[in-house]
Amino acid sequence: MKVQIELGCNWKVGKLNLNELAYRVDELAPKILIQVMEQLANAYQREVVERLLPGHSNQEQTGLGRHEVKGQPGVLCSCRRVKRKGFRSHPRCIKGKYGMMRIRLQVVECLDCGKQFCPLLNALKIEPYMGHEDVLEKAVLDAVIDTNYRRLIDGHSLDVSLGGVHNFVAGSDVDELLAEDLELDHYRAVMADGSGLKKKGGKKGELRVLVGITASGHLEPIGSWVDTSWEEIDRQTRGRIKFDPQQPPLLLYDGEPGLEDFLAGVVRAPQRCTWHAPRGLYHAMWEDDYSKKDSRPYQEQLAKIVAVEIPEGDYDQLSPEAIEVVRKKYRDAKKDMDALIRILKAKNCPHAVAYLRNLVRGLYHQIDMWLATGIIAPKTTSRLERLFRELARRLKRIAWGWSDQVATKLSKMIMIKKYRPDLWKQYWLKKMGIHGYLNIWVQSVTVVSGVNI
Ligand SMILES: [Zn+2]
Repeated sequence: MKVQIELGCNWKVGKLNLNELAYRVDELAPKILIQVMEQLANAYQREVVERLLPGHSNQEQTGLGRHEVKGQPGVLCSCRRVKRKGFRSHPRCIKGKYGMMRIRLQVVECLDCGKQFCPLLNALKIEPYMGHEDVLEKAVLDAVIDTNYRRLIDGHSLDVSLGGVHNFVAGSDVDELLAEDLELDHYRAVMADGSGLKKKGGKKGELRVLVGITASGHLEPIGSWVDTSWEEIDRQTRGRIKFDPQQPPLLLYDGEPGLEDFLAGVVRAPQRCTWHAPRGLYHAMWEDDYSKKDSRPYQEQLAKIVAVEIPEGDYDQLSPEAIEVVRKKYRDAKKDMDALIRILKAKNCPHAVAYLRNLVRGLYHQIDMWLATGIIAPKTTSRLERLFRELARRLKRIAWGWSDQVATKLSKMIMIKKYRPDLWKQYWLKKMGIHGYLNIWVQSVTVVSGVNI
């Protein structure tokens, strides 16, 4: 088959510049694309209807002409022979990425039961109330996730309201993507954290996120929740673990209450985020009536204590001396920490002392893990904070006033698109049903001059 596109064109020789050339072609693109879609749909309709007329074999009619027996909803008719009955008076309109597509639907009548129907609807899997196609839906959601939704709307290239975006998200089955079996061995560390979320009527909510860090340092979303307790998140997450890990990942968190025993038994004892330690001490000393200036020396001391760095590279390739250096730094850090706690106790800082005693319990698991297994896990949640900032920015702009369930879905989409682009692509190909049943390519583009049009 061949799709012919004929464009009319004239120009002012001696005046035209490249930008106008690009601008005019760009302007034209959506108009061409929408008409190509309409014409292909029309041609497909002609072919489908033709094959349903008497004189065609069953094989030629495979997958075509399915309809319910007249007057018997739910019962499929075995007859596939039809006669033409004209066209529906109004075109079927479907919103697409490049504008509204209009198809004149051919009506046929079954020669056996007399039912009148439009074979193209079933042939192209057009649902009764389908108002748009999924290429549009994907384009809109991609735009929302990449925060250029406003620009798209203002540019009028996509005509979808915020309510429409909400319906796309609400109707999606993205939850299934983050419900698959969880292989903890795949991760070096599992990070858990929460962040405030503004909800309808100024109410505050809590967005909670669980991500894994792979051996190659990639961040992979495990799940996200809005206003769900850590106990419930623990229960749901355990439900996805089919095998106990051989090499349990380190649980990394920022001291948020409720996470001390999170996933206990399948992850290593929780590591506190070391990066937050000095800031945490500042808050504790502030509660002990110490000013920012007065607490600074202690914050600096703590920053040094938590900064025991693990040498990069393969553990097995390191000399025993190099490993001993880390062991010594580790021992010194523990001693320095005890000393710091004693000093703050003498200075009558109960909050700071309690904070450090709590912190120290979760401070060195990452080093313990490395000394025991040679595996380097991260020890700060800074990457999770970046993720939270991104989530918060998008949710604030788009999901304002949405239900917890729908906001959660959007947060999952944002994480999957950014951190598992392969999975995002597969999800859409499956959802759209792209199997390679249509190929279309540019055969040739030539310009013919001097033709009267
Ligand atoms: Zn029939």
